[in-house]
Amino acid sequence: MDFTLSPEQRELQLHARKTAQEVLGGAQATGVGQGTPEQRFAATRPRYRELVRAGLLRKQVPPPLGGTMTGLLDLALVAEELWAVDADVPLSLFSTGLGLMPLLMFGSPDQQERLLPLFVGDDGEPLAAPAFSEPGGSANFRSPHPGTGIATVARREGDEWVISGEKQFIPHASGWDGEGADLFAVAARTDLEDPPQESLAVFLAPRPKSGLTVLGAMDTLGHRSALVSRIRFDEVRVPAGNILGAPGDGIRILETAFSATAGLVGAFCVGVMRAAFQTVLDFARTERRGGPVPVIEHQNVGTLLADMKARLEACRYLTWKACHYFDQTGGQGTELSLATKVFASETAVQVVYDAMRAVGAEAYTTARPLGGLLQDVLAYPLFDGGNVGVRRPQLQRLFARPGYDQLAAAEGRVPGE
Ligand SMILES: Cc1cc2nc3c(=O)[nH]c(=O)nc-3n(C[C@H](O)[C@H](O)[C@H](O)COP(=O)(O)OP(=O)(O)OC[C@H]3O[C@@H](n4cnc5c(N)ncnc54)[C@H](O)[C@@H]3O)c2cc1C
Repeated sequence: MDFTLSPEQRELQLHARKTAQEVLGGAQATGVGQGTPEQRFAATRPRYRELVRAGLLRKQVPPPLGGTMTGLLDLALVAEELWAVDADVPLSLFSTGLGLMPLLMFGSPDQQERLLPLFVGDDGEPLAAPAFSEPGGSANFRSPHPGTGIATVARREGDEWVISGEKQFIPHASGWDGEGADLFAVAARTDLEDPPQESLAVFLAPRPKSGLTVLGAMDTLGHRSALVSRIRFDEVRVPAGNILGAPGDGIRILETAFSATAGLVGAFCVGVMRAAFQTVLDFARTERRGGPVPVIEHQNVGTLLADMKARLEACRYLTWKACHYFDQTGGQGTELSLATKVFASETAVQVVYDAMRAVGAEAYTTARPLGGLLQDVLAYPLFDGGNVGVRRPQLQRLFARPGYDQLAAAEGRVPGE
């Protein structure tokens, strides 16, 4: 076993590190983060464009489809470097990646040819939006009981699907200009009377010409410059060919796409923990706080730092293993991605809190970046499928499957193979 990155991976990591510093460094200081949610998001546009120009959107699309993706593990390397500097613009970029993922993984050649070109250039600021969550709840999207689950409907009319329903937490749904994201991947049911196992599907809706209403931005605690909105689809029409697979395939499509992102959330967390650790390290090595020695020489602070660093490192290598396992099994091996999502997100909250404890009361002011990091990191146990309502239940279902084998993930096998 060798944890050394390949020369290509090291090059990618250093490219992402340099890009993060050049493009995202000082994001807060230069006005990103001021004004309404829409204004804050709009202010990130030049930085988003620079990330696209640096090839980091194309990096999320596999080469046969015009991109340069070399696997989830490589994306995790990129994500960690970006998140160590800023969490907002990268979240918009990776949300676009998640919006594309169902199309990348389950799209037909025709769908990919029609809908991907906008996203594989090195120019512009294209936005794709995964539209899954709903005001009525999303944790029970698999529920077969009548009147439960996803309530957005896609009705077939001639050679079109007609989509109606409300969604929330939809990233950059209004686009840069208020007219809508360039592409929505919409979870909807073809018949609410039928269980999702027969009716749930994912529909590809390019920027709707009519029927999309942005009901309002959601003023989130953290990620203050990454816009998420409540939206309504009123009879949004898409061509009949814009359904991924068939009605009923939605559960598999969503769970596969969200398993990939679960591993990446581990990398987001490691990036934020890096920023928190560095803040405390700098503080502790330089500040005496009226005492005779730098704060780092006090054992209690050393203990906090040691624990923070060990947890950060543990999350990094779990993330790498989870992503490697996902890549190696063609997306079939998901247990470690789910475990990473749960473990890294909850660990990261604790690490940022420990960082605040080490710095003391000034950590509770905007003079130090830790309050902002805490606001950001609190999202990770809750989003991308909440740990309580979605991720642990997914693990529970894996454990309950006949043929589940607890050593399979460690050994790179898919249980049951
Ligand atoms: C910053 C941010 C970005 C986001 N980005 C997106 C995005 O790109 N696209 C998107 O579609 N959504 C997005 N979301 C929403 C996010 O993915 C949520 O995780 C998802 O909507 C599920 O919400 P929930 O976990 O609160 O579940 P809900 O269905 O609202 O359930 C709430 C709570 O009820 C309990 N509960 C309900 N049912 C069960 C059950 N069966 N078992 C156990 N407990 C249960 C749990 O405690 C659960 O946490 C984002 C959210 C945030 C904050």
